[in-house]
Amino acid sequence: MKPMALYLHIPFCRRKCHYCDFPSFPGRPADFGPYLAALKEELRRRWRREWEITTLYLGGGTPTILPSRELAGLIKAIKRTVPFRPGAEVTVEANPGTVTGEGLDRLLAAGVNRLSLGAQSGEDRFLKLLGRCHTTAEVEKTVALARQVGFTNLNLDLIFGLPGETPDDWRRTLEWATALHPEHLSCYGLQLEADTPLFRMVETGERSLPDEEEVRAMFLTNTTFLPTAGYEQYEISNFAYRPRTGTGTTSPEGEVDYRCRHNLIYWQYDDYLGLGLAAVSTVDGRRLTNLAKLEDYLRAVRTGAAPTGTEEILTRRQRMAEMLMLGFRLRTGPDPVAFHARWGVTIDQVLGEAVAPLLDAGLLRSEAETYRLTPQGMLLSNQVLHKLLSPLL
Ligand code: SF4
Repeated sequence: MKPMALYLHIPFCRRKCHYCDFPSFPGRPADFGPYLAALKEELRRRWRREWEITTLYLGGGTPTILPSRELAGLIKAIKRTVPFRPGAEVTVEANPGTVTGEGLDRLLAAGVNRLSLGAQSGEDRFLKLLGRCHTTAEVEKTVALARQVGFTNLNLDLIFGLPGETPDDWRRTLEWATALHPEHLSCYGLQLEADTPLFRMVETGERSLPDEEEVRAMFLTNTTFLPTAGYEQYEISNFAYRPRTGTGTTSPEGEVDYRCRHNLIYWQYDDYLGLGLAAVSTVDGRRLTNLAKLEDYLRAVRTGAAPTGTEEILTRRQRMAEMLMLGFRLRTGPDPVAFHARWGVTIDQVLGEAVAPLLDAGLLRSEAETYRLTPQGMLLSNQVLHKLLSPLL
């Protein structure tokens, strides 16, 4: 059977964080039931017989804002509807403060084997600035609860480059996070999105962002400090613990592997199906994006119409460029064997002369029939990828 990654979007949150422009909004309990019913119906309609789930990811929003009985019921319903490959990774995003021991127990029993917690910062003043609905003490409590219940694969999401944050502050956040011993850390630089309260605070001068040099120092702390704590960078912003012994997901090579298999599918440019509000799918070179308004989405599913907002047929060149762009996010660079198998040409043939100046500038490194970004290249990844890939588009 063909492997498939399934993403389900749960758009509800307790309240809107000050930096967030994701498709999410404060949850209205009256919408939960109809939304879950719509998700199950969309799955029934869009699933193909030849597919088998290798990874399931429930993200948002805050999936754990749903009553745990309903969230666990959704996962069980998916398991009854579509086949799962043995050992499939099942991740649920959770916000500290929205889970109880009983709720986590239900999720574990329903087959969730990876929990991703939106921790964001190790300092309460930054959590407050971000408008998060939890404290650092609640993050610690949630991690302890998850361990008590039996979760052995936890991720913490963190954000650096916050207004008023110094490299020392960020280092303290990393020290705090690693002391909680999660198996995985995601460390993203703040993207200041227009029309968010945080954007306005910066625009009006009420708060100021760290300068370029400071952000650079924070990024480099990720790549220098985290390995000393046992975390290996496998993607620009993602780090997996490399245990000497442990009980994480076993890779086909038999090694314990805490990299996020679901996100690896995106970065390796394999197909995925996204269901729910504003969810994106890429299957066989077609990109479908679902409707972004709750009423429109629910009505479309209820009336038997496709809940698709936009559909894009990607050209061969676009697909090659996207595969390279995502592959360059990985520490090892795009996979030359997979690239050649898919397109019948080598990475070198496609990138041509764009590579040489970037190698000379120390932003790119040549490696076993592929290229990868150097730490400096990762810092400037947007500019580097633009130079590399714009001739393709
Ligand atoms: S919890 Fe996440 S999705 Fe929800 S508002 Fe905050 S940042 Fe956005």
